[in-house]
Amino acid sequence: MKKRNLDPNHQKLINQRDLQNDKPEEACGVFAVYAPKEDVSRLAYFGLHALQHRGQESAGIAVGDGKSIFVVKDMGLVPQVFDERSLAGLQGHIALGHVRYSTTGSTRWENAQPVHKTFDEGTLALAHNGNLVNSKHLKEMLQRNGSFFNSTSDTEVIADLIASFVGDGSVEKAVVQTMNLLEGAFAVAMITEKALYAFRDAQGLRPMCIGKLKNGSYVISSETCGLDIIGAKFVDEVKPGELVKVSKKGLSRRQVLEPKPSLCVFEFIYFARPDSNLLDKNLYAARKKMGVLLAKEAPVKADLVIGVPDSGVPAAIGFAEESGLPYGEGLIKNRYIGRTFIQPSQTIREVGIKMKLNPLASVINGKRIIVVDDSIVRGNTTKKIIGLLRDAGAKEIHVRISSPPYKYPCFYGIDTASIDNLIASENSIEEIAKKIKAETLNYLSLDSLIKSTGSSKNKFCHACLTGDYPVKIPSELRVSKLMLEKSPSN
Ligand code: AMP
Ligand code: SF4
Repeated sequence: MKKRNLDPNHQKLINQRDLQNDKPEEACGVFAVYAPKEDVSRLAYFGLHALQHRGQESAGIAVGDGKSIFVVKDMGLVPQVFDERSLAGLQGHIALGHVRYSTTGSTRWENAQPVHKTFDEGTLALAHNGNLVNSKHLKEMLQRNGSFFNSTSDTEVIADLIASFVGDGSVEKAVVQTMNLLEGAFAVAMITEKALYAFRDAQGLRPMCIGKLKNGSYVISSETCGLDIIGAKFVDEVKPGELVKVSKKGLSRRQVLEPKPSLCVFEFIYFARPDSNLLDKNLYAARKKMGVLLAKEAPVKADLVIGVPDSGVPAAIGFAEESGLPYGEGLIKNRYIGRTFIQPSQTIREVGIKMKLNPLASVINGKRIIVVDDSIVRGNTTKKIIGLLRDAGAKEIHVRISSPPYKYPCFYGIDTASIDNLIASENSIEEIAKKIKAETLNYLSLDSLIKSTGSSKNKFCHACLTGDYPVKIPSELRVSKLMLEKSPSN
């Protein structure tokens, strides 16, 4: 690693920045394409459109043309950030795109991706989905070595590590060295002027797959729905701990870290789009199965089953099918509002729920309703929905959740705040039912959840449900979110 010389003011600035807290990258969307004969920025634009559900705070595309890298990024949704003019200015044969999820306090332009770094022989642009648990330590090491950071995101730490290591050899070697230092969740795609790289942590916590266009060009996407939109065929997942490189020589793959597969089970429950596949399973089918098993585990007499749009709908359909009850649309969603969770303040979040969902009184009035949702995190959404359904004349409201209680915070890239905000961490199911004012409340068991995925329990991270963290959490991080003494694994 090359040491960089710093003047004293530069060092002072670094020290000031040290006082700021680093913010993790949350469940974001990453898309990349290496296609010499295609309009790559437009392909990246479409890919990001398909991944928009993974982050609505900012969007960006970097393009490499063999000699330089150009980046356009800004706050907002994909179509707000890009127009014909900006896409036309992004010409080249490799593109890398990113959509970023918002977290409280980290809504800053500087944190938008792809991150751009120069090194002696060139430039790299990098986009990351996940959250490192050792970024503070790595950043301090890099700063001591003369690095300067523009953002508070751990993505820049990854990019800077690679840029620092390139001084000692090839880009590929630098990526391998970097992968060996990173701890936590990282599904990363990176471009240089000439090549595309994609790599995942040993656990494969966040998803990432490889696709192929009809003309043989390769695509990388967080989810398979990003491949579908541009007509690319699924080739394989980027395996946990694997490094994939695409260059003029074609595709090469290298197992860098010993794989310890632990895919985030919440990708199955909520994050990924229902038309995506993970671990060879379609997510709509998996979620519907969750509803079927939930109906077997927690049946109740009622007149109608409704789902909370959109994430609760497949499980609600499965629940209705299994229980022999009619399924109806009782809540109408305004499609133009982002996910409520994404709004940073509590007040805005609460207004957000009302803006997003409107009950259909003609369907609800006078009925005993089973309302199915994928999860309860803080409990605000469900409580609000129950209020809306009561106002619309529901006689009874039975809540069924197609995942187990969410009790422990996530450190691997999902913003679920600290443990005291998680309603199931302090309350029994009966207490939660009372708080949200439901007649009855039931959650799906972990066994049934896993059964619905078609895989086995040891293939998943389920720490937020069980407290069993697959990557050790450093103590300073633990105290920031928890008092993990409450966790069974500690
Ligand atoms: P709440 O209980 O109000 O915190 O929010 C739960 C709702 O948000 C559920 O309807 C889920 O569909 C959705 N949800 C669950 N986990 C997340 C997450 N990490 N980010 C965004 N939305 C989520
Ligand atoms: Fe996913 Fe939960 Fe594990 Fe976080 S703790 S990676 S949300 S399963």
